Amino acid sequence: MVIDIMVNDKIRKICILGSTGSIGTQTLEVIAEHSDLFEAYVLTAGSNADLLIRQAKQFRPQCVVIADESKYDYVREALKDEPIQVYAGADALCQVVQMGPVDIVLTALVGFSGLRPTISAIEAGKPIALANKETLVVAGELITRLCLEHKVPLLPVDSEHSAIFQSLMGEVSPIEKLILTASGGPFRTFTLDELQGVTPAQALKHPNWDMGAKITIDSASMMNKGFEVIEARWLFDVTPEKIQVVVHPQSILHSAVQFEDGAVKGQMGMPDMRVPIQLALSYPFRLRSSFPRIDWWDMKNLTFEKPDPEKFRCLQMAYEAIKMGGNAACIVNAANEVANLAFRQERCSFLRMADVIGETLQRMPHQEKPSLQDYLDCDSESRRMAEDIIKNTPRSIGLRSTEH
Ligand code: NDP
Ligand code: MG
Repeated sequence: MVIDIMVNDKIRKICILGSTGSIGTQTLEVIAEHSDLFEAYVLTAGSNADLLIRQAKQFRPQCVVIADESKYDYVREALKDEPIQVYAGADALCQVVQMGPVDIVLTALVGFSGLRPTISAIEAGKPIALANKETLVVAGELITRLCLEHKVPLLPVDSEHSAIFQSLMGEVSPIEKLILTASGGPFRTFTLDELQGVTPAQALKHPNWDMGAKITIDSASMMNKGFEVIEARWLFDVTPEKIQVVVHPQSILHSAVQFEDGAVKGQMGMPDMRVPIQLALSYPFRLRSSFPRIDWWDMKNLTFEKPDPEKFRCLQMAYEAIKMGGNAACIVNAANEVANLAFRQERCSFLRMADVIGETLQRMPHQEKPSLQDYLDCDSESRRMAEDIIKNTPRSIGLRSTEH
């Protein structure tokens, strides 16, 4: 289907879930660079009404959705002279993804909020360009099964998974191992003691990537890499033992595949999300781009290290969640969303985030084969539990740095 669209020279109409975020705005840059091939057909925001309005005036989509219903009148009033439909609320997200003319849904919502709209898009047979990894973390088994049932392609946007996808192009032989690279984040060289007192401001400064706040914190704790292990498990149907995380601080090798003859194929490039975004929209073709190129004389050294399991317990927890299966990863994701936000609001220390996730996972009942409703219930219950754990943590344990 995707191939037909390009061959027929038809403009691809894109629905961007989360157009006001880091991935969403970069997707619009790609669309602007290739306005002869792509059209922003649907734009959606959580609550950033002003940016959504500016984007709507510039890209003139068919419709926009503001998830925060209290902003509906404001957006509608601002766009009253434009031929653009305005909707509000979470349910509207599930409806717009199904609009007949939409060719691809790019999911760039953050966290669990992406699950229902993604399922809705799959049920309508829309190809998915997947940035919102939490959807696969929470319900990978359900999502991949639905994609097979509805014959829907799931195209990775996450740079590592796009790199693996690119390394697999043209290959028919089995995978021996996936090499998932990680920058190691801003705290790669910190000792455990130094990690005790790190602040949200320090964690929000990622060395190589400019991303939304939630994923930047997940990168600092390496929960993001844990989620990417789960994402890879579902996207490429490999067992966790075959996924090796390798810290590569320069973020030039975006990930690689090792085959059974020992050959390793990887994809390299500057750290720029517009490259995987563009490929997910144009697949199977590569389009020209003006994005920065590698300057080989600048590449003094590319280094590779083992991740430290003591410092980055979240990574290990993701492997455990895959082994446990069922609702385990859903619990880890929900507890992480709560702990991540609490850390940003200075209600939970950096290292305490892993404790909160681990304790929630221990206390929540395990379910082997959850339905969609079970995932929704499990998510809410895990959030409540994680909040309780944070509230009941003595501040001296939870927030060492602000105690005095
Ligand atoms: P941002 O926080 O920058 O953007 C999130 C987008 O989703 C915004 O448009 C936001 O709207 C919207 N949104 C947030 N919550 C809701 C909600 N409850 N209902 C509806 N809309 C909502 O995130 P990123 O762009 O960084 O990340 C998006 C996804 O892509 C994440 O899953 C992340 O893990 C993944 N990803 C991101 C990468 C990156 O480089 N940024 C790299 C690889 C993957 P508003 O602006 O109004 O708040
Ligand atoms: Mg990534």
